[in-house]
Amino acid sequence: MSNSIQHRLGLVFAMVEEQQGLTQYLQDAHTQTVGNREYITGTLWGVPCVCVLSGIGKVAASSTVTSLIQQFGVSHIVLSGVAGAADHGLSVGDIVIADQLIQHDMNVSPMLPKFEIPRTGKSRFDSCSDLSTQLRSAAEHFLANEFAEKISSESQQQFALNRVNIVNGLIGSGDQFINDMKVLAGLKLELPDLLAVEMEGAAIAQVCDDYQIPFAIMRTISDEANDSAPLDFKLFIDEVAAQYSIGILRQFCAQWTHSNR
Ligand code: SAH
Repeated sequence: MSNSIQHRLGLVFAMVEEQQGLTQYLQDAHTQTVGNREYITGTLWGVPCVCVLSGIGKVAASSTVTSLIQQFGVSHIVLSGVAGAADHGLSVGDIVIADQLIQHDMNVSPMLPKFEIPRTGKSRFDSCSDLSTQLRSAAEHFLANEFAEKISSESQQQFALNRVNIVNGLIGSGDQFINDMKVLAGLKLELPDLLAVEMEGAAIAQVCDDYQIPFAIMRTISDEANDSAPLDFKLFIDEVAAQYSIGILRQFCAQWTHSNR
């Protein structure tokens, strides 16, 4: 990531709760509405940024990211948000950084193998390994240095945040909120390495593949994608996931500025 002048980071959040608290740090902020979305351009901890709420789902995410690339000229894209766990090793509060993304509800069989995206020859899209590595190191820094201060002890207790893990691997996206063990088990049968399920990441991956834009996706586990007693989803995002995002993105931007000096 050399030559900072041409760099502009697109920061995407699906839900307003996931973005809250972040935009106050944007300097020289300027808002423009395109396609029913508000794009806030500014400088975030030294990094030229465009921050946007995409809304939920693959179409909302695709349309938003296309505008980020076409109208706002972003050079890199990062999404931060929450996801359901699709692996027994993961608990609420853990962080998943996507190495690969798949649209788990895409199926053009028998013409194409299940999950393959027409015209691309791919069912899995790779994220940018540089961006993902930097997000991971920012997340490690946050957990080691800021977690205890930024996440209240009540929240740590309420959500049983004992030892928070960071893992890299496959994230699956589809236009459905998964809260059924049987649906999840069906997905795991076909995609044994699936770590988390959400509703936007793989759509962003496909658009970024079309435009050859490097991207990374980071998700905090908010639920277990099953019907177990639903934890307070909104409270978790407010008290935990949004705090993770701010802390991790601050460190990520600091590293970015440093590496572009
Ligand atoms: N209850 C919320 C809707 C959340 S939709 C509301 O009323 O506004 C789920 C959002 O969180 C999506 O943006 C998706 O990316 C993510 N997500 C978290 N857990 C998920 C799960 N188990 N399945 C699918 N998406 C999930």
